Amino acid sequence: MKTLMTGNEAMARGAWEAGVRFASAYPGTPSTEIVESVARYREIRSQWAVNEKTALEAALGACIAGVRSMCAMKHVGLNVAADPLFSSAHVGVNAGFVIVTADDPGCHSSQNEQDNRHYAKFAKLPIVEPSDSQEALNYMKAAFDISEAFDTPVLFRSTTNLSHGKTPVIVGERVEAPPRAYERTQSKYVLMPAAARARHAVLEERLLKLATYAEISPLNRIEWGSRSIGIITSGVAYQFALESLGQKASYLKLGMSFPFPKNLVRRFSTEVERLVVIEELDPFIEEAVRALGISVEGKSLIPLTGELDTGIVARAFGLSLASLGAGVGAKAQAETAQAEAQAQAEAQAETQAQAEAQAETQAETQAQAQGGTRDKADAAEAPLPAPPEQVPGRPPMFCAGCPHRGVFYELAKLPVAVSGDIGCYTLGSLQPFGAMDTCICMGAGISTGMGFQAALEMLRVEKPKRTVGVIGDSTFFHSGMTGLLDAAYNGSGLITFILDNRITAMTGHQENPGSGFNLSGDAANEVSIEGIVKAFGIKNVATVDPFNLEKVREALVAALADPGPSVIVGRAPCALLKRSAVRKPAYYVDQETCRKCKLCLRVACPALYVENDMVQIDADACVGCGVCSQACRWGTIKILSKAGDK
Ligand code: SF4
Ligand code: SF4
Repeated sequence: MKTLMTGNEAMARGAWEAGVRFASAYPGTPSTEIVESVARYREIRSQWAVNEKTALEAALGACIAGVRSMCAMKHVGLNVAADPLFSSAHVGVNAGFVIVTADDPGCHSSQNEQDNRHYAKFAKLPIVEPSDSQEALNYMKAAFDISEAFDTPVLFRSTTNLSHGKTPVIVGERVEAPPRAYERTQSKYVLMPAAARARHAVLEERLLKLATYAEISPLNRIEWGSRSIGIITSGVAYQFALESLGQKASYLKLGMSFPFPKNLVRRFSTEVERLVVIEELDPFIEEAVRALGISVEGKSLIPLTGELDTGIVARAFGLSLASLGAGVGAKAQAETAQAEAQAQAEAQAETQAQAEAQAETQAETQAQAQGGTRDKADAAEAPLPAPPEQVPGRPPMFCAGCPHRGVFYELAKLPVAVSGDIGCYTLGSLQPFGAMDTCICMGAGISTGMGFQAALEMLRVEKPKRTVGVIGDSTFFHSGMTGLLDAAYNGSGLITFILDNRITAMTGHQENPGSGFNLSGDAANEVSIEGIVKAFGIKNVATVDPFNLEKVREALVAALADPGPSVIVGRAPCALLKRSAVRKPAYYVDQETCRKCKLCLRVACPALYVENDMVQIDADACVGCGVCSQACRWGTIKILSKAGDK
């Protein structure tokens, strides 16, 4: 069926046809109508986010849980979402994930003018740029395929002209994308430093593969006309170029402008007499062409600012709109048809050339890899500095008496996915707890968990059955509040566990709005976390002592019984916080009744150690929190002061 659609409507249709099941967005011109249109398709759970960051994080969470997901925002919105954007490039995807950025050249309704193609290069993500509504639909489907094939989020760039302009579209039917099975893979989805370092290497390898793909992708195509001018272009700039120059030029149209198809560009440049880049805003393509050592014109002809149109492009080539005639559109259409026919005739030769280009790129990639090996070999030959004195390896773990220990001890026993955040409590992902599924960036513990929970509800999986978002007090104030507001507004079944240790512990005990002190150490307004949560409309709110395992368990069980959003605040000060730490009597293990089951070691307290197969407690390290004694089933771990002279 053929119909007229705006680019935004076509993107939504493309997402629907691609089998997308979750979409989140914050409104902003020119992207607003994308999820408004998505919302008409009942197969997609679509929602307004409270900002672009929570939108991206929620969609990322849903894709990790196994359903194709998208988020959409205007160009400046991606600035707000930049934190999870960069992390998402590191973690990759499970099911396909597309991030739409709708740029606003000319600042029709924006506070600035920025070219978000730079984000693709900066975050090392592929970017797809359609030039009309049909391509918006087709490329959206292609973007999901690329996302899954290369395990990467895909940036999808629109501009105002594409988003709001209407062109004819042939629509298709929805093809259900089978949900992808989810497996807890902490090395991929929990971005602790060791995992993040490894994921960066994966990201670089993926970019090389994407660069090879860019050379042969049908999204990048050559349309031959006169070879006296060769135009390299992308997005709607292609339409303006075509309307202005028609068959007077040949076109290399980049539907995927990053990674840059170097060999395709080299080949095109050798076949035309004059090479010109026509692009809106920054010289993104022009600079990439120059970096290849190829002489090219671009911003010397086409303005660096504002929105392009046919007249601007025509004048750049000494033509006037009047000279193009009133039937410029019809002419361009006829020329397009002619170009397409010619392109078809040349397709066979093109395929052959692309295969050669691919071989060339693969050889280049191999050479790069060999270069890397050589570098490593050279480094290996260099004299190494004297090794430091050998020290035994020691995995990072919660301090003795950390209030987070008991919470992760209990979470690890439940059939839940845990969406974590940045702070000491990220250690809960490590053994013996292993209780964390994702950790993306500050504040994402709640919003990624919301998307994950949405996917679990859609897929009705049994394990994990629910999602628990875990976040610290300082991180909650930093950017977790917006995620929780989003979850409350959208009625998410997420359980949020706020680990309030009364300080910003990980960075070295800095005050925050909940601690009651300011930077100078003077008394400050002590903001109530429970007050904020209740103001968001969340009714199921509990506060527990995280050292009391039974109470932690009861609160989690109550939250699991409630299908709506609920919040548990676990409040106890960081064990290293001097002003509130009350050191209690240490515990000891009664060796006569100890059954050597070593269950207590599952709380992973550094004060516990094993000697002669017997668990012991270092009384100097123990702060008397009592968590290990609750983990012991036999009542063998007792308070030292009651043991008299022990
Ligand atoms: S610094 Fe405080 S919050 Fe961090 S692990 Fe140690 S006790 Fe726990
Ligand atoms: S009571 Fe047990 S868990 Fe708590 S600090 Fe002492 S040894 Fe560690």
